[in-house]
Amino acid sequence: MENKIHPKKERTLVIIKPDGVQRSMIGEITKRFERIGLKLAAVKMMVATEEQIEKHYTLDPEWRRITGEKTIESYKKKGLKPPSEDPFEITEAILKNLKNYMVKGPLVAMVWEGAHAVKIVRKLVGGTEPLSSDVGTIRGDFVLDSYQMADADGRAVRNLIHASGSTGEAENEINHWFKPEEIVNYKLAQERILYDVNLDGLLE
Ligand code: GDP
Ligand code: MG
Repeated sequence: MENKIHPKKERTLVIIKPDGVQRSMIGEITKRFERIGLKLAAVKMMVATEEQIEKHYTLDPEWRRITGEKTIESYKKKGLKPPSEDPFEITEAILKNLKNYMVKGPLVAMVWEGAHAVKIVRKLVGGTEPLSSDVGTIRGDFVLDSYQMADADGRAVRNLIHASGSTGEAENEINHWFKPEEIVNYKLAQERILYDVNLDGLLE
């Protein structure tokens, strides 16, 4: 299923979270996806409900376990004691904090399309925790938050942006946030340079 479509048609879901909108980062973030050659296929600004946020994060039934385990590991790597050894207990708290964070202001949901869109966007976005995400990535360049600080204050880590983690996740998330008719199929002039096999017709 993953390999049926040509990689240049791959789509991914991006959400500029309420902190990204408040920090006037919509332009800075979309610029990074545009300049690498991706195509904006859908965009909308909205205030989400808690139900929409919970559904978004639990579309993947494994998310609770995986996120909990990732968090426990990240504590241990730093030589710190995790707040619990039970991944589900940890994710329950994260989910509660996420609902509290993601509905507090408008967010911008977008669909980006292009070659390896999921992996390319994740590369530009950077790792989940801003403290350790690479310099040059969106999270690494523009946020200074950490799990430690977020947990001490009992809130979600503020990392500006969400991006789908896999093509399967992208498909589910795009269906969750957009109706099919809200996604625009069109050609971008620069796609010829990015994808045409022969590049005929450039020279006069
Ligand atoms: P992402 O795909 O990189 O956004 O990360 P995940 O899907 O694992 O987690 C979703 C969101 O939950 C992240 O973007 C964070 O806002 C939040 N989150 C994830 N793990 C943790 C954690 O260990 N502690 C805290 N405070 N927030 C977390
Ligand atoms: Mg994720």
